[in-house]
Amino acid sequence: MNKTLSVSAIHNGTVIDHINAGQALRIVHMLGLAEKKYKVTVGLNLPSKRMKLKDIIKIENHVLAKEDANDITIFAPEATINIIRNFEVMNKIITTLPETISNVFVCPNQVCITHTEPVETFFYIKEHSKQVNLICKYCEREFDRNQVKVNI
Ligand SMILES: [Zn+2]
Repeated sequence: MNKTLSVSAIHNGTVIDHINAGQALRIVHMLGLAEKKYKVTVGLNLPSKRMKLKDIIKIENHVLAKEDANDITIFAPEATINIIRNFEVMNKIITTLPETISNVFVCPNQVCITHTEPVETFFYIKEHSKQVNLICKYCEREFDRNQVKVNI
């Protein structure tokens, strides 16, 4: 019996498991999964031995790109990302926190130039003792990762 089957019961695709509870929808928006018309199942606040509560995202018939997998770690540092083929885990994507991220988030600073000028938002990502912050390239302010909103 494949132990991962209960959380990865899709035929082919990608399962993003062990997402910090409350972050799955943000990740769905960040990766544009709804807009791309992928068949996506999202589980929120599921019981987890390791995390107490977790979110999970299953994307059918799509293998997540490495860059997208890396972006996920901004919000879900403990996420495990498995590629599923024929109901079995074929491959696990090893992620690293990206150094920058552009055109995905809205700067929380209301007077930031990105709100009035037609520029792509751009954030530097800074990690210190498990805390992940984003620094806006334009106004140079630093924000907790939960403060930034996804540009929809
Ligand atoms: Zn800014």
